[in-house]
Amino acid sequence: MLADQHLLRIPGPSPIPPSVQRAMNQTMIGHRGKETKELMQRIKPRLKPVFGTEQDVLIVSGSGTAGLETAVVNTVKPGDEVLVIVTGAFGDRFVKICEAYGVTVQRYDVEWGAAFDPAYIKAYLQDHPTIKAVFATYCETSTGILNPIQELCKAVHEQSNALVIVDGVSCVGGVETEVDAWGIDLLVTGSQKAMMLPAGLTFITVSEKAWKVIENNEQARFYLDLRKYRKSLSEDSTPFTPALSLLFGLDQVLNLFEEEGLQAVYNRHELMKNMTRSAFKAMEIPLLTADDVSSPTVTAIKPADFAAEDLRKVIKREFNLSVAGGQQHLQGEIFRIGHMGYCSPADVLQIIGIMEIGIKKIGKNIELGQGMRAAQEVYLQQEVLA
Ligand SMILES: *Cc1c(COP(=O)(O)O)cnc(C)c1O
Repeated sequence: MLADQHLLRIPGPSPIPPSVQRAMNQTMIGHRGKETKELMQRIKPRLKPVFGTEQDVLIVSGSGTAGLETAVVNTVKPGDEVLVIVTGAFGDRFVKICEAYGVTVQRYDVEWGAAFDPAYIKAYLQDHPTIKAVFATYCETSTGILNPIQELCKAVHEQSNALVIVDGVSCVGGVETEVDAWGIDLLVTGSQKAMMLPAGLTFITVSEKAWKVIENNEQARFYLDLRKYRKSLSEDSTPFTPALSLLFGLDQVLNLFEEEGLQAVYNRHELMKNMTRSAFKAMEIPLLTADDVSSPTVTAIKPADFAAEDLRKVIKREFNLSVAGGQQHLQGEIFRIGHMGYCSPADVLQIIGIMEIGIKKIGKNIELGQGMRAAQEVYLQQEVLA
């Protein structure tokens, strides 16, 4: 096997584009100097379209979970009552963070593999007017669900004054996100998924309404205090030493987004989703999620008559292709293909071709080329539509 080739198709971290990798190799600069200020000035306006916002997008160094914790410590305090929508492992993480800070959590658990129902949440808020914030996951990475965030915002804002706080770590940059138009009060994303960077940056948007809550929140916080980030960013700076190499990379990621066009980036993700899903349908291997709620960035497959882990092992051993397994109770039950960020329809064809060999090798009698053909047909179909 070619030792240096690793086909990384897990739902984050995702592969880094070569030009981004090179950008990150730039010579280090002083974080209080003119170079950093100019870098921030280049990045600041160009991040906004990715989030669909006119607000400045705050950047905190840390993994995605640091962003989730930032959301919690800034908006709520011990004793506040919140609703956390749990559609999988990452909704569950929001619960754990809230509980760690003594926040009173009401959970709305949805079967893993399904999306939440905004109408249920609206009715719940009607009966529970004390809820201060609703926490939700945009793409639930553990199941491959893309939850209806726009409808959630509408339902919550019609019914209550609660903030809508969204974890978009595994899809922002790959799917349309309209923070201002939808009314998301606080959105968090990370750098290592559809944003095509290594882990280490988290991006946060905050609505006017959420700023009022944040300004008056008595919860103790220091490094994660968003007020510091807002003040520094208004001066094209950061309160602490930023992860400068990642910002060099981000500058180039934004170039790539602009060259391709954001709409084309989203279309590419949609196409990769459709190619992947039709391949498994053609092979009659069940998908975990329904078409209308599935994420353009990650697909979960739930094989009925072979072991997901056997397939993962053989494709890793023979092709160094990594896909993810299941989390928590779905461990061993599913495998998940990340098709986000630096990933194209050409990569999907490679994944499907390898999968067919792997599935055959572990003893399931499929006809070679069936999945591949379906994916190719989806590709050709969209060309006709374009
Ligand atoms: C990856 C991910 C995170 C953050 O995980 P980190 O390991 O802390 O970067 C949070 N939410 C979702 C939905 C994710 O996919």
